[in-house]
Amino acid sequence: SFSCSYRFAKEYSTSPGRGYGNGVIQVLKKLSSFQLSDVYQPARDQFNGRGSFGNGGAMRTAPFALTFPDRADVKRFARLGAMLTHSCSLGYNGAILQALAVHFSLQGALDLPLQFINNLIAEMEEVEDNKETRNDARILKEAEKPFCERLHRVRDLMNRSKVSIEEVISELGNGIAALHSVPTAIFCVLHCLQPLEGLPESYGGLERTIAYSLALGGDTDTIACMAGAIAGAHYGIEAFPQSWIRCCEGAEDADVNAERLHKLYHQFPQGGRSEKVKQQWYREENQSGAKTGVK
Ligand SMILES: [Mg+2]
Repeated sequence: SFSCSYRFAKEYSTSPGRGYGNGVIQVLKKLSSFQLSDVYQPARDQFNGRGSFGNGGAMRTAPFALTFPDRADVKRFARLGAMLTHSCSLGYNGAILQALAVHFSLQGALDLPLQFINNLIAEMEEVEDNKETRNDARILKEAEKPFCERLHRVRDLMNRSKVSIEEVISELGNGIAALHSVPTAIFCVLHCLQPLEGLPESYGGLERTIAYSLALGGDTDTIACMAGAIAGAHYGIEAFPQSWIRCCEGAEDADVNAERLHKLYHQFPQGGRSEKVKQQWYREENQSGAKTGVK
């Protein structure tokens, strides 16, 4: 965990002018210190000890779903990865939800959209069933299980024949809170499985998903990033137009890292030969003193 957080902070310092929020800049500065004994402490200190519920942890969580075949690992590491910067349950639970969406999508679950959303609701019922979540939800005046409540709204919207952009924004949001953007991204993917009025007929599902996410406005880069990760796991790299890839910063790096993640994924045949690697990760995690509430 320490090495991960340290490299994360160093990466930030090579290019700091990227419009990060001030809160997370303070966290990254502390994470780049070698004296840090608990890498999760800087995030906990944010917002008078409440921690951030923004969507930054969710936005960067997809690689956990690409690395671990096992769902329990996906949830566990998505949570820990997000907690480096987002210690409020409404932040890290959003990251777990996003990682689960990529995980199910990777398994082809979007072929059955209703089952896909029902699976996510069932998982989040468990993820949100704890004291921290209830406490944060109460303080922030949200439903008892905030992400489950939003996923029910997603399911209601996807069952309707016509939905306006205004309705999507008012029902699900398009803001910087994880609660107002992760369910929105999931809806974008589901809504764009079929051709949509107002988008070029030549567009495939992946292009529709990205274009539709951007059309919602608000925190467009993050929502399109999350929707793109879920859709990408479903449609595959071939669905991305070459011209779009050429416009992406860091596309070559992404390609190299994707190969590495793919190798890692295949080292983990459901509790198989790399049990040793996993054990070491768990040891590091426990040494860092992180609470591990994810089943
Ligand atoms: Mg953003």
